[in-house]
Amino acid sequence: MESLMMNYPLTTTTILEYGNSVYHYKKIITYLPDGERHEYFFSDMYKRCKKLANALTQKLGIKSGDIVGTFAWNHYAHVELYYGISGIGAVCHPINIRLSSSQTEYIVNNSEDRVIFVDATLVPLLEKIAPLLETVEYYVLLNAPKDFKTTLQNTIQYEDLLAEQSEEYQWPILNENDACGMCYTSGTTGLPKGVLYSHRSTYLHATNIITPNAGNFSNEDTLLLIVPQFHVMAWGFPYLCLLSGSNMVLPSSNLQPEALINMLQAEKVTKANGVPTIWLGIYHTMKENPPKEKLALKEYLVGGSALPKSLIEGFEKDFGIKGVQAWGMTETSPLGTVSRLQLQHNHLSNNEKLDIRAKQGFAFPGVEIRIMTDEGTLAPSDGNTMGELQIKGAWVINSYFKTNNLDSFTADGWFKTGDVSTIDPDGYMEIKDRTKDLIKSGGEWISSVALESALMAHPNIREAAVIAVPDQKWVEKPLASIVLVNKEKNTTAAELIAFLDREFVKYQIPKDYVYLDEIPKTSVGKFDKKEIRILFSEGKLK
Ligand code: ADP
Repeated sequence: MESLMMNYPLTTTTILEYGNSVYHYKKIITYLPDGERHEYFFSDMYKRCKKLANALTQKLGIKSGDIVGTFAWNHYAHVELYYGISGIGAVCHPINIRLSSSQTEYIVNNSEDRVIFVDATLVPLLEKIAPLLETVEYYVLLNAPKDFKTTLQNTIQYEDLLAEQSEEYQWPILNENDACGMCYTSGTTGLPKGVLYSHRSTYLHATNIITPNAGNFSNEDTLLLIVPQFHVMAWGFPYLCLLSGSNMVLPSSNLQPEALINMLQAEKVTKANGVPTIWLGIYHTMKENPPKEKLALKEYLVGGSALPKSLIEGFEKDFGIKGVQAWGMTETSPLGTVSRLQLQHNHLSNNEKLDIRAKQGFAFPGVEIRIMTDEGTLAPSDGNTMGELQIKGAWVINSYFKTNNLDSFTADGWFKTGDVSTIDPDGYMEIKDRTKDLIKSGGEWISSVALESALMAHPNIREAAVIAVPDQKWVEKPLASIVLVNKEKNTTAAELIAFLDREFVKYQIPKDYVYLDEIPKTSVGKFDKKEIRILFSEGKLK
C-alpha cells in the first residue's frame, strides 16, 4: 500500500533554504589566496546564490542537466557555486586542480563542462589546455583583479556577472534523484571515472555525518574545511554546515601547517576535516612550536588513508585533541564508515580503545558493508578473515558516468571497493590494504597499512610508505620509504627492524629502508605509491 505522506524532495535547495531561514546569522570565513580574510553571513551567501542562478540561466544559458565545472580552491564563491548551480537543476562539477594537464583535459571533455569557474591563480593551468577543451563556452574568473589578463577566450569576471543580477529567483522544484554534483576518481588505476551524486544522496549523506555517532556537528561548532571542495565535494561539509548551523572556515590555498594552525587559533575552530598527511604536518609543527594558548579544536575527522594509531595518541596526549577516523571513496560520497567508541568499550584499557579507534569503523545507518573472500564466500565477522570490502547504500554509486564498468559491481548489487578488510564481531571494519598495494612475500600476505602505522609510531619517523618490490627468493618483499623528524639523528635499519619486532613476525618486517626528504603525494595528499614504485624501478630510491 502506498503511504499517505508528502513526497518532499530532499534537494540541495532545501538545504540552502533551511540554512538561510534558521542559521542566517552564521558565518562563512575565507582566507583568500592573497591572504586577505573575507567574512559574510549565510544570508549573504543565500542572496548571492540567487543572483548566480539568474546569471547562469539568463546570461550563460545554462539549462537543467548541464554540467558546469569549477577549478577553484575552497572559498565562499565556491560554496555559492555548489548551491547556485545545483539549485537551477544543473550539475556542479569541481575539477581536481592538482591533476596533470592530460587528465584535466580528459575530465573536462568527458564531462562536457559548458562553463568553467576558475580562480585567477589557477588560470595558467587551464590556459595550457584551453584549445583542447571541446565543450567549454565561457570561463568565469574568480578572485581576479580588475585588470587581470589571460589568453582564455570568452571570460567574464564573477563579480561583474553577479552585479547585473536580481536577488529574486524562484528555485525550480527538482527531482531528488536527479544529479546535483559530480566528481572524478583521482585515477590511481587507469583513467579517472566520473561519479554523479544525486540531490537525495547528498542530502542523506550530509544529515548522517552531522549525527553524534559520526561527526557530531552542531550550531555550537566552527568547522575548518581543509579537504578540498574538488575532493569528493569536501566530504559533504559545505552542505552539512548549513544543516547543523556550524560556521565555515575556508582556507583556499593557505594549506601550510603554520597557516592552518593560525586559522584554528584565530577563528576558534572546534572541528575540522583532512587527510592524515595534513594532520601529521599540523601535529609535528605544533610539537616543534607549541601554540601559546590551548586551541579550541576538540576533534578532527580523518579519512582518505589510514590514521596512524600513534598520531591519534600523540594529538590527544600532547594537545587534548581527538582524532576520529572515517573511511570512504569518491564512489561513496565519500563517507561509509566511522570509528567511535561505544559504552560497551568503557572497561577497556587506553591501548585497547586506541586499537578500536584506529580501525575504519562501523557503517553509517543507510549503508551496508560486507567482506567477500577470494573464494567468493561471505567472510565471517571475526575480525580476522580478510577479503574484499563491498558496500551498498543510499549514497553509494550505482554506475559510473558514461561507462558500464560492470567489473565494479556484484550481480546482487554491491559495489566492489578494491579494499582488503576485516570486520569484527561488533561491526568495526579495518582496512588492511588496497588490493593492488598488498605485499605477497613467500606466499604470505603482508599489510602495508599496518607496517606504515607501526613505523610512524617511531619517535623519529614523520612519514612512512611501504611498497612491494621484487625479490628472488620470496617473489616480493616490503620496502619502506621513510621521512625522519630529525635527520641528524641516526635511525638505522637495524634499529627499525628491532622496533617492528614487537608487533610483527619476522617475514613481515621490511629489511630495506630508504630515507627521503618527502614522500611523493597524490593530488589529494595521500602517499603516492604508484610514484614510489616508479622511483624504485628507475633506481632512484637509494
Ligand atoms: P583515490 O582512489 O584516488 O585514492 P578516493 O579518495 O576515492 O580516491 O580513495 C578511496 C580509497 O582511499 C579507499 O578505497 C581506501 O583505499 C582509501 N581510504 C579511504 N579512507 C581510508 C581510511 N580511513 N583508512 C585507510 N584507507 C582509506
